[in-house]
Amino acid sequence: MMHIVMLGAPGAGKGTQAKILEAKLGIPQISTGDLFRYNLKNETELGLLARSYMDKGELVPDDVTVKMVRDRFTQSDCADGAILDGFPRSPAQAEVLDTLLEGRDGRVDIVFLIDVEQEELIRRLLQRAEEQGRVDDTEDVIRNRMVVYQENTAPLIAFYEDRGLLIRIDGERSVEAVNADLITEVARFAVKHG
Ligand code: AMP
Repeated sequence: MMHIVMLGAPGAGKGTQAKILEAKLGIPQISTGDLFRYNLKNETELGLLARSYMDKGELVPDDVTVKMVRDRFTQSDCADGAILDGFPRSPAQAEVLDTLLEGRDGRVDIVFLIDVEQEELIRRLLQRAEEQGRVDDTEDVIRNRMVVYQENTAPLIAFYEDRGLLIRIDGERSVEAVNADLITEVARFAVKHG
């Protein structure tokens, strides 16, 4: 069982890399952003709840988010682990994740920080806005998501660094080059931990 956390600012490439890792490692990507967007599209109660926060680039309240993640973990495809993309997004969520994983005899094994400089992030997000038309990829909302990332999520870097789990990856390279590094690190971890 292996649990990988993908850390990085919006636009760093967490989702892209998580999807490739999912295919290569055979453990599912759990993207809270994707789960929220799915619920939004299907107009579920959860989707309606999340909407006003997502539209502004704010974090959806923890009770809603945590319940959604907990439910996702009960699905059978998570038996061998998961690649967490977009969760945890705050130290409080990281504590919840620890408890959740303890309950399944697991732990956070690796945390990848995909490092990309701010101007490049904004450039990428504006480009994605044109290509995918995500409602939260407008310039104002993008800037707010960066602020929310700095305030709530960036503290997780020190949090996981202190635990010796953080691996920094230079994200300003090709998708393939970044992925090659991730795979190397996962293999190194597997050798070390059996
Ligand atoms: P993402 O696709 O990861 O950028 O997420 C899109 C939006 O979904 C975020 O701006 C938040 O509004 C919401 N969201 C995603 N993950 C979380 C989370 N772990 N906690 C709270 N809100 C989240």
